[in-house]
Amino acid sequence: MKKFTKNDQGFVCQNCGQTIPPLKTTSRDHCTVCLCSLHVDIHPGDRQNTCCGLLKPIGIEISTKKGYLIIYRCEKCGEKRKNRSAPDDSMEKIIEISVQQK
Ligand SMILES: [Zn+2]
Ligand SMILES: [Zn+2]
Repeated sequence: MKKFTKNDQGFVCQNCGQTIPPLKTTSRDHCTVCLCSLHVDIHPGDRQNTCCGLLKPIGIEISTKKGYLIIYRCEKCGEKRKNRSAPDDSMEKIIEISVQQK
């Protein structure tokens, strides 16, 4: 079973309303402005999760291999997940979240 489905489409952020263009290199899975995402995947890109809650960034983890990892918690079901940040993510927002992190 393939666990990664490339699903690179632009979308409108449900949190801030920003239109996010497709990312060429990998699946676009979160907003570049507020970094929010939607709980729609069970495995990255599969869009098989029926939760569809808003994933809010609650922390930042720095990985030497992968760069910034954004830690999310789903507002609806409370599940936590991590996503890699995209190259065009708002650096200010990343810093803001990492400062607020406890
Ligand atoms: Zn947004
Ligand atoms: Zn959820």
